[in-house]
Amino acid sequence: MTQKFQFTDAEKVQLLADLIAIKSVNDNEVTVAQYLQKLLAKYDISAQILPVEGNRADLVAEIGSGQPVLGISGHMDVVSAGDESQWTSAPYTLTERDGKLYGRGAADMKSGLAAMVIAMIEIKQNRLLKQGTLRLMATMGEEVGELGSKKFADDGYMADVDALVIGEPSGYAIGYAHKGSIDIRLTSTGKAAHSSMPEQGYNAIDPLIDLLGKANHTFRDTDRHSELMGKLLFNTTIFNGGNQVNSIPEKATAEINIRTVPEFNNDEVAEKMTALVDEQNAKGADIAMDIYMSQPSIETSGKSTLVTLGQEIGAQYAGEDVPTNAITAVTDASNMVYGKGLDYPLAIFGPGSLTVHQVNEYVGKQMYLDFSKLYVAWFSRYLNEN
Ligand SMILES: [Zn+2]
Repeated sequence: MTQKFQFTDAEKVQLLADLIAIKSVNDNEVTVAQYLQKLLAKYDISAQILPVEGNRADLVAEIGSGQPVLGISGHMDVVSAGDESQWTSAPYTLTERDGKLYGRGAADMKSGLAAMVIAMIEIKQNRLLKQGTLRLMATMGEEVGELGSKKFADDGYMADVDALVIGEPSGYAIGYAHKGSIDIRLTSTGKAAHSSMPEQGYNAIDPLIDLLGKANHTFRDTDRHSELMGKLLFNTTIFNGGNQVNSIPEKATAEINIRTVPEFNNDEVAEKMTALVDEQNAKGADIAMDIYMSQPSIETSGKSTLVTLGQEIGAQYAGEDVPTNAITAVTDASNMVYGKGLDYPLAIFGPGSLTVHQVNEYVGKQMYLDFSKLYVAWFSRYLNEN
């Protein structure tokens, strides 16, 4: 494939540095979107900013026309850098050390997003598309709530998309399935009393502990599992209750994170949790349940020309076979691929390392540069050959 127009390595690194300098920590994605809109406009690609709330927005851009449509997606938000003094270099200043590019979002996933944008521009500039449409969908809020990808799904942007690539940090392995995730808050309300006269109050902690014990049994002691993704995971991750050692507690709260599989899905978890709450409340407790986040698991067969072609082109850069697998994290695919069926071509494939969400997050510089090239070949060949 001949390419007259190519960004230099320095320009590619600068683009990533610019994106990392925008602090889009669960907010402010519109600034990333505006930056990308301006960059794409320089190369005659018009992008649309889709407001979600406040400073939060999605971005959509297209090149080519007609069928097939290949969707490419990456999120513009990052998680907090945490204690910045723990970082060797400032988290929002991309810093190169020993062939690695450090910064919050370097792996998850501003490098994947930048590589997609670079590929899109190079494909357009070099007129590599003989047919079809390449649609970039950059999302807000992936790390918390996944509202951005929900908007793309709800507003019909996925309706005509024949195959989807998500550039989350997989390294040289292609993901085609992942567990779902549910966040639940339980609030138990009792009645305060002196602990020498408990009969005058109602202990808010007791029914909550009983419920959580039964829930552990319900969700952990089961043989049901996914061949691909293993068992459902149930964990109480936050527990608070009471405020004085000699007072009967009037309030207790617990938060739970559940990782679901198709064989034990979000609806069934909600049903079983509701029953457990009802059981306690029927005995006199006052427990309220708030399921404040629920993303379904995504399972596809992984058998598609999108995946095979990604493996073939990826191997040229990896220097070895590119395996396929189920990944551990939840992605925007929960919303974007929901209901599309087992045969839907989904590939989660992007530059990165295992340092996501950690201090000193990095992406290998060569891996980032390689992905920007493999995306050019992968996206254009997929559209031209299908
Ligand atoms: Zn991510």
